[in-house]
Amino acid sequence: MQDRPLSIGHIFQHGRTIHGDAEILTWNGPEGALETSTFSEVGDRVDQLAAALQRLGVSEGDRVGTFMWNNQRHMEAYLAIPSMGAVLHTLNIRLFPDQLAYVINHAADRVIIVDASLAPLLARVRDQLTTVEHLIVCGEGDTSGLGDTLDYEALIGQESAGFEYPVIDERSAAAMCYTSGTTGNPKGVAYSHRSTWIHSLAVTSSQALRVKEGDRILLIVPQFHANAWGMPYAAWWVGCDLVMPQQFLQGGPIAQLIEETKPTISGAVPTVLSDILHSAPDADLSSLDYIVCGGSAVPRSLMEAYDDVFGVEVVQAWGMTETSPLAAIARVPGRADGDPMQWRARTGRVLPGVEIRICADDGASLPWDGEAQGEIEIRGPWITASYVHDPTEEKFHDGWLRTGDVGSIDHQGFIQISDRAKDVIKSGGEWISSVDLENELMAHPGVREAAVVGIPDDRWDERPLACVVRADGAGATGEELRGFLDGRVAKWWIPERWTFLDEIPKTSVGKFSKKDLRTMFQAGELTVED
Ligand code: ADP
Repeated sequence: MQDRPLSIGHIFQHGRTIHGDAEILTWNGPEGALETSTFSEVGDRVDQLAAALQRLGVSEGDRVGTFMWNNQRHMEAYLAIPSMGAVLHTLNIRLFPDQLAYVINHAADRVIIVDASLAPLLARVRDQLTTVEHLIVCGEGDTSGLGDTLDYEALIGQESAGFEYPVIDERSAAAMCYTSGTTGNPKGVAYSHRSTWIHSLAVTSSQALRVKEGDRILLIVPQFHANAWGMPYAAWWVGCDLVMPQQFLQGGPIAQLIEETKPTISGAVPTVLSDILHSAPDADLSSLDYIVCGGSAVPRSLMEAYDDVFGVEVVQAWGMTETSPLAAIARVPGRADGDPMQWRARTGRVLPGVEIRICADDGASLPWDGEAQGEIEIRGPWITASYVHDPTEEKFHDGWLRTGDVGSIDHQGFIQISDRAKDVIKSGGEWISSVDLENELMAHPGVREAAVVGIPDDRWDERPLACVVRADGAGATGEELRGFLDGRVAKWWIPERWTFLDEIPKTSVGKFSKKDLRTMFQAGELTVED
């Protein structure tokens, strides 16, 4: 067979020609206009951006950062930078300043494209950036803290369509993303052209997101969070529209955007879906076939609420920055019978193209019986083999990536994650799954959010502390919730200690931040009832 290199340039050319009339819609908020461009129009602008970057001196292998919301220009960067042989580095706009400066310097970004509305956030670290030569600003805003900048539109306006893209080694880096660094500095993952090509095609498949021509994806998951789960490139493969919400991500505005643009598919972490549910329960979301949800365990009660309130299926998926990210998805098996929820509520079934196993502490492989608990390990063409300039050997095991997730696998390849290894609660020598406790707690109508962390205990080493946000107007007490858990989880799992908060702290990608909860507990900042 012919040995054509697999490249993002190919995804780009395919989309702009075969699906030239598919559209990108960028939202400017409830009061603003919707900007629409076709893939064909975007394609010309991608050529112009590549030419402009080349004129600035960007060449093959150079890193170009993006500090942007989800919008059309961010998609242009997604296509132009890898296609010209440079490396797209999507920067997480919610990192703490020190971490942001660290990842930009560590990746040695030469250019950063920044949305004007985010300029003040980038300005906080401008003085610490040692490698950045040019800042390209999109739109109008206060950019005073950034020093000299270039205007995106003026820059690309000087170029014309028809850029000559190089042939690229498929194993070279196309993009990179840092993990959010819950412990220590963030770690860089580099995606190759080959891995991205294969992953994004796999994402479109019937075993994964089933994205097809004529679909319209509302991209809520940020483009800086693990390639927005592969959806932008998948859209260019098959010609489905992309709706980009920019910074208007609160539940109410998102519901309005859905009503206005009628997307068929969306993707978001559970906290965002919970926000939509609570802020806009009367919204009409019926255009959606389904919403893919992951990044942390998706409570069964959330899926049921979406079924009942909106008539929209929430499909759980599992993956991580290191796995491009999609690795498993909880689709109901074709030959299954019985209650679909028994499949949907699981973490996910491994995708074709990657392999998984579970290992005991001594490294031995464990059976796929749905019972044995161990660390999930994974390998495949879109799983990282190392971290960028960071020899972290303990994260790999004989060519497999150690995910740090603990769970079981059943004989059909369904994974059930019970916890992250670092979040497991070890009580009296036995494990308590914080994920299971949270799921059960969030099934109580008086609970809006629940996170459970292990805290030191003289007798049992660790015991669970339940951190609960009450639903509006509901006054669920610890005693009532203990009673609710009785019969749903093992008796000895039921937390003695409870704290009620206005909000659970979130990580930079919108997950419950257990690290922050533990720190708050240690600092005596939580009012604990027992
Ligand atoms: P971070 O590690 O900074 O949170 P990632 O987005 O890469 O960033 O997180 C990957 C982790 O998210 C996985 O290792 C797993 O612990 C968790 N995760 C993702 N999807 C699910 C899911 N469906 N169920 C449970 N945990 C999940």
